[in-house]
Amino acid sequence: MTQQAGVLYVVATPIGNLDDLSPRARRVLAEVDLIAAEDTRHTARLLNHFGMRTPLLSLHDYNEAERAPRLVERLQTGQSVALVADAGTPLISDPGYDLVRAARAAGINVSPIPGPCALIAALSVSGLPTDRFVFEGFLPQKTAARHTRLGQQVRETRTLVYYEAVHRLAESLDDMAQVFGGARPAVIARELTKLHESMRAGTLASLAEWARTDSHAAKGEAVVLVSGAATASNTADADSDAVLAVLLEELPLKQAAALAAKLTGQKRNMLYQRALKISKTKNPSR
Ligand code: SAM
Repeated sequence: MTQQAGVLYVVATPIGNLDDLSPRARRVLAEVDLIAAEDTRHTARLLNHFGMRTPLLSLHDYNEAERAPRLVERLQTGQSVALVADAGTPLISDPGYDLVRAARAAGINVSPIPGPCALIAALSVSGLPTDRFVFEGFLPQKTAARHTRLGQQVRETRTLVYYEAVHRLAESLDDMAQVFGGARPAVIARELTKLHESMRAGTLASLAEWARTDSHAAKGEAVVLVSGAATASNTADADSDAVLAVLLEELPLKQAAALAAKLTGQKRNMLYQRALKISKTKNPSR
């Protein structure tokens, strides 16, 4: 009889608050034969907190290529392995890619135990559009490379999400303000799920200024979210809304829409609907 292969579990762990370790993650971490961890001392503290004694093996960027095939061999002999990062979801700007690729190529069952992830947590509370977004991970550390990368993203209309080391936050925000324009709206999500959790929204210019001058900005961990570039159609909508808002100060809805249609060249019916929305926002009782 051939040996039944083990399962490789990709387990998300807390990004701050230990209560965010799910019951299923706890069970898997307690039951697997081995935990492959980015930093074994860090994960040992998590295991101690929950009274677990599962053996640990380090798996980080510098040894992953060499360790992945050996871990696959262990999986093939029927052992089960959990992969964890220091915080959040493995492989999301964290090690694990080589191992997951190798395990899948060998036909091993790779199963996710989903949970915390800083980018999703930040996006979900940012107030920026979430229907379409791009995750850009960490920007390059060297200024010239960072500018080049940002330059490639200037026209991106989806919400942009970046991880950033706090000691580079001010510098990166300055570069974003230079490349995307200081008026672009953005949000900084700091220390999520921790004691000093905070969200700060503003223009890139104001956030860069804050990061340069406020000592709190350079502490903890942060996700940077930047509003996507305005598309031609939402720029046109914003322009016609501005025209309508002025006209509605002086004219009834129908006349405001008719005059706005002449001024902007947009359709009168559509402008009437927008005018209706604007006047409802200004006078909710109407
Ligand atoms: N794999 C992790 C995840 O799923 O979120 C991300 C690991 S990446 C090496 C670390 C970066 O994630 C930090 O530099 C920061 O940008 C972001 N991050 C992690 N924890 C965070 C938190 N509690 N609050 C805000 N950002 C956090």
